[in-house]
Amino acid sequence: AKWVYSFGDGKAEGASAMKNLLGGKGANLAEMANLGLPVPPGFTISTEVCTYYYANSHTYPADLQAQVEAALAQVGALTGRNFADPANPLLVSVRSGARASMPGMMDTVLNLGLNDVAVEAIATSSGDPRFAWDSYRRFIQMYSNVVMSIDHHNFEEILELYKDRKGFAQDTDLSAYDWTQVVAGYKDVVKRETGKDFPQDAREQLWGAIGAVFSSWMNQRANTYRRLHDIPESWGTAVNVQAMVFGNMGETSATGVAFTRNPSTGENALYGEFLINAQGEDVVAGIRTPQNITETARIGAKSDKPSLETALPEVFAEFVRATQLLEKHYRDMQDMEFTVERGKFWMLQTRNGKRTAKAALRVAVEMANEGLITRQEAIGRIEPASLDQLLHPTLDPKAPRNIVATGLPASPGAAVGEIVFDSDEAEALKSGGHKVILVRVETSPEDIHGMHASEGILTTRGGMTSHAAVVARGMGKPCVSGAGTIRVDYAAGTFTASGQTFKKGEIITIDGATGQVMAGEVPMLQPELSGEFAVLMGWADEVRRLKVRTNADTPADARVARKFGAEGIGLCRTEHMFFEESRIVAVREMILAETEAGRRSALAKLEPMQRQDFAALFEIMQGLPVTIRLLDPPLHEFLPHKPEEVAQVAAATGASAEKLKARADELHEFNPMLGFRGVRLAVAYPEIAEMQAKAIFEGAIEAQQKTGVAVTPEIMVPLVLSKRELDLVKARIDAVAVSVFKAKGVTLPYMVGTMIELPRAALRAGDIAETAEFFSFGTNDLTQTTLGISRDDAGSFLGSYVQKGILPQDPFVTLDQEGVGELVALAAERGRKTREKIKLGICGEHGGDPASIAFCERTGLDYVSCSPFRVPIARLAAAQAAL
Ligand code: ADP
Ligand code: MG
Ligand code: MG
Repeated sequence: AKWVYSFGDGKAEGASAMKNLLGGKGANLAEMANLGLPVPPGFTISTEVCTYYYANSHTYPADLQAQVEAALAQVGALTGRNFADPANPLLVSVRSGARASMPGMMDTVLNLGLNDVAVEAIATSSGDPRFAWDSYRRFIQMYSNVVMSIDHHNFEEILELYKDRKGFAQDTDLSAYDWTQVVAGYKDVVKRETGKDFPQDAREQLWGAIGAVFSSWMNQRANTYRRLHDIPESWGTAVNVQAMVFGNMGETSATGVAFTRNPSTGENALYGEFLINAQGEDVVAGIRTPQNITETARIGAKSDKPSLETALPEVFAEFVRATQLLEKHYRDMQDMEFTVERGKFWMLQTRNGKRTAKAALRVAVEMANEGLITRQEAIGRIEPASLDQLLHPTLDPKAPRNIVATGLPASPGAAVGEIVFDSDEAEALKSGGHKVILVRVETSPEDIHGMHASEGILTTRGGMTSHAAVVARGMGKPCVSGAGTIRVDYAAGTFTASGQTFKKGEIITIDGATGQVMAGEVPMLQPELSGEFAVLMGWADEVRRLKVRTNADTPADARVARKFGAEGIGLCRTEHMFFEESRIVAVREMILAETEAGRRSALAKLEPMQRQDFAALFEIMQGLPVTIRLLDPPLHEFLPHKPEEVAQVAAATGASAEKLKARADELHEFNPMLGFRGVRLAVAYPEIAEMQAKAIFEGAIEAQQKTGVAVTPEIMVPLVLSKRELDLVKARIDAVAVSVFKAKGVTLPYMVGTMIELPRAALRAGDIAETAEFFSFGTNDLTQTTLGISRDDAGSFLGSYVQKGILPQDPFVTLDQEGVGELVALAAERGRKTREKIKLGICGEHGGDPASIAFCERTGLDYVSCSPFRVPIARLAAAQAAL
């Protein structure tokens, strides 16, 4: 079998389409070589070897070694060096690379092949002993850490001590001799920690590193990342072995990372950071403050050292050509790594860049306008859920800000929270309901869970491409990085900035758009929904078939939803209008009434309030459809429990408190979810439905007269299980319509329909549709009743059900398509058979979930309805489902 794929010298055995086999990094290295870009030669050991390795108790296929040797010889021929040749050694990097990019999750070893003899040969051949020994010390530290699990601090301690002793500030201050001393110290560490000498045999080093990459696929960090990003364990990682090029060969050498467009704002400008005389991860690790790539796109004016454009203009020109070629070729924004060795430019990596939601929108819209991609592709490039980032507030520019430090604007958005310094603590506080800002000198992959739990992240070290910045942008969390004037004292649980001391638990505000760090809480503003957002949503609206409505119970919700583009109200839960202090007494009076007369007197108090509520909703929705659900009260939520609540009702009705208390006890239910609710209430007490119907019709007439726009109310009867129930209630509604229209001298068209939220209703949809003019699938209750799982009690076991693969996801978040979905499809089909044009919608939480929306599209529903803030997400998801 073929396990190894070579690249270099303008050609490659792989290509970017082979990501499954070669991993993202390997496939793109091959592609860049094929494109004729300068890529150091190398080869990729395929992900199939990783699969083999785990299937065969950590061993390799028998013919792998020979294939690796052959590929190494080929790299040697292209570079004019030989691996493991003491006189003229080929040095390589060993780089992991999974299918999906997993930044910082897997470990890379650079300068492999060095030993006590090779380092002297390199010192001589390069004419730069300092460079040779700098490479050797880097190699010992990286290899010892990745392959032999010796903690970095052992090495950092030695280097810090040495620098202190000699009065050096920067690593670049050390001479060749200094590095020989440090290397000796490093080798002692290895001996002390492992009892063995640092391996001198290049082949032993190589196989040690390859094994470490494969093992790291299952390490804690990688597992966490995979879990958070839904990456299957079975994919495995590839290993890339590549000839080293050296950015640490003096003042004409450099290493850097760049994006073809700004990953934070999306601006079409080359954007990145680099360091002169440095290697590999120095830029990302934030050891020195990096310099900007271009003169114009300067990042927060952080470094006053010259840009690459100024420092190495010819290299810069070549790099710019490469970036343009890559962006055109991949037709997407690229995130690239490069190294310059003595003025010679090399590409080391390219991939589609991670970006904020804001940047994703701008890049997609601009690329479509540039003709690089189609509008449909632009629509497909935006993750619907990511729009959420844009719909939330930003800092009020007029509000006073007590700015205590300014770092880099690493990931936009504003966040307010309590200071916390530790990721475990951040997670614990979050689960206790606190909002926290994670404050770190810098973050590492061990902080992922803490970053996840935080509202925002603040670091004092590291640039725009530091770990904190990259991960925060991926998570859509606000981040300020490299706020260098802040001094963190982990031990004391404090930081100081601008002469003030901030303790753990105190509130700060960070603004990831400006890099500002502020004491206390700064007020926020509602988001701006114009610009690229509006353009892309307009394109989405042109292609989608499904209508998007909102679930709104109040005029405020309805207004927000209209602003977000809702095309009507799919669900107005009238009981939510009753929680208000001034109304609850009348509601309790109604529930506790023992006679129809008593109930009617309570209802008479509620009716004008309801009429006003409905009139306001109809007015805001300007003739768009509005579905109002008749009362579906969870009785226990309305019953008075406390003595003072009982006393209030007693005072309003003149009944005795004891009697009311007894009545409340009588109404207690063991399982309110399956109790006296929904249409059952309307069947027992039709006067309640009558009052609501009257309020709806009168409110509609009022709104129509006020706005001059025709209103067609849709009255929805909840929890129906048979046609007969609906017939009884519809007869009452129709009678009320006749009398209201007569009294007002106005006639309105209206519809009466039902929610399908019981399996029996789905099964009987054929006869129910004889009466119902529309169905709205109440998938929250339909999920509960179909699975027999109470949403409020599922917490204790649902997680393990998903983990064990019994359910593919949380069925209350994403529709259970196999079970609940089948009922929906069946009810839709049976309903349509009876009433061809029956209007069909969905109004559970699922109405705002992209995967569930795709299901609704496939099932041919007419609309989805979701909470106001999810309306734009639903519009985009509906468009993607229609593509
Ligand atoms: P990661 O996936 O964490 O980015 P990489 O394999 O890309 O890991 O490598 C880490 C760093 O080492 C990057 O800055 C990369 O450019 C650099 N690097 C990797 N291979 C080489 C090489 N052959 N020559 C010079 N630098 C390299
Ligand atoms: Mg790394
Ligand atoms: Mg990389």
